[in-house]
Amino acid sequence: MDFSYTPEQDAFRARLREWLERNATEVFGSNREALSSSATLAGDDDRWRRVMEWHRRLYKAGYLALHWPKEWGGAGAGLVEQSIYQDEALRLGLPLYGANQLAIDRIGPTLMFVGNDEQRRRYLPKMLTGEEIWCQGYSEPNAGSDLASLQTRAVIDGDDFIINGQKVWTSMAQRADWQVLLVRIDPNAPRHKGISYLLVDMHSPGITVRPLVQMTGEAGFNEVFYDNVRVPRKNLVGELNQGWKVSLATLMYERVSGGTRHPVERAINELIELATKVNFDGVPASQHPYVRQKLAQFAIESRCLRLSRYRSLTAQLKGKMPGAEGSFGKLFATDLNLRVAMFADELLGAYASLARGSLGAVDDGRWAHRMLGARALTIAAGSNEIQHNIIGERVLKLPKG
Ligand SMILES: Cc1cc2nc3c(=O)[nH]c(=O)nc-3n(C[C@H](O)[C@H](O)[C@H](O)COP(=O)(O)OP(=O)(O)OC[C@H]3O[C@@H](n4cnc5c(N)ncnc54)[C@H](O)[C@@H]3O)c2cc1C
Repeated sequence: MDFSYTPEQDAFRARLREWLERNATEVFGSNREALSSSATLAGDDDRWRRVMEWHRRLYKAGYLALHWPKEWGGAGAGLVEQSIYQDEALRLGLPLYGANQLAIDRIGPTLMFVGNDEQRRRYLPKMLTGEEIWCQGYSEPNAGSDLASLQTRAVIDGDDFIINGQKVWTSMAQRADWQVLLVRIDPNAPRHKGISYLLVDMHSPGITVRPLVQMTGEAGFNEVFYDNVRVPRKNLVGELNQGWKVSLATLMYERVSGGTRHPVERAINELIELATKVNFDGVPASQHPYVRQKLAQFAIESRCLRLSRYRSLTAQLKGKMPGAEGSFGKLFATDLNLRVAMFADELLGAYASLARGSLGAVDDGRWAHRMLGARALTIAAGSNEIQHNIIGERVLKLPKG
């Protein structure tokens, strides 16, 4: 593993850091909760307005789509620059891809890889400008971990598909203009072979979006119902009934563009700060040996996470395909984040349950909010049990359970 940066890369980091700090303070203020996922911001009008402004600034400055080729309006940057950008944005708890996380991170790259020219020309530019926000309709009430059992149906009618069915947990659907939708066209084909990948206008007649309020009190995701929704056949990506392969391409791009992208290091730094402000067992928490051990352990684990990301990056720089690091990073980061939130609970005792705006709430209720939100991250993007299965089967080569 090579830890050294070239002078150009160091200069890029310095420029970027200055730009991010200055602009983030202007847009989000100086005392802000981590904002790393635009989905968690979708439910609140004021935060959404700010994240749209953040999106426009990132785009104008050329930092929004570092991993996109220049041909499609990206920066065509190398993996090291992308990794520097992620480090710096996560350090400040900022949304990596502005308001259009799914589009910039994976849907756009999927269209570049599997879409046709007309689709690329039509959709990619407005993903960048933020004029069209995207969401991802994969999960259904009876198809989450076992996605291939999805039942939302499409039938062909002349030049259109007609869609009927329901999706659930669709992040940002209430803000989205477009959606990538997995539907079943051939109900008699083997499960993975009857699925197609469509681009759907969320303003089409017959689509109903119902926000779902999470225990944080925010509505980051939604139920989406489809009642005879017409979608032009030209909105099919890839071939008919080959949608499973297209969705795998989306996942591949998710891996290549990222790795571990959770701001857990920031949460740990804030926890260390918290320990200097509160008492534990009658002494300042930061001086209590049990607290110190815990903080040191978290810091070590977050460093391991970062090193594991660098290992994956080095492998990619040497031209190797990313392996199961994506699963490892997702599992480890979201589990660590949950344990950090639970430990903050332990430190704060009864104060832990005081929410934002309550009298006596420490750090304006940040920790109560974090505790309530941390569990969702262990489920989103494939639950941690499923990540354990992937690591067990594909890395450790254990027999299938
Ligand atoms: C915050 C958040 C945002 C999301 N955003 C989106 C989105 O934008 N678009 C979208 O399509 N989906 C989205 N999802 C849905 C997410 O992908 C699913 O919730 C997830 O895949 C789990 O599916 P499920 O909820 O149906 O649970 P299930 O699959 O029913 O699982 C229930 C429990 O059983 C366990 N389990 C299931 N199968 C196995 C197995 N084989 N081995 C071991 N344990 C197993 C699971 O780990 C889980 O604990 C989001 C979810 C969350 C929490």
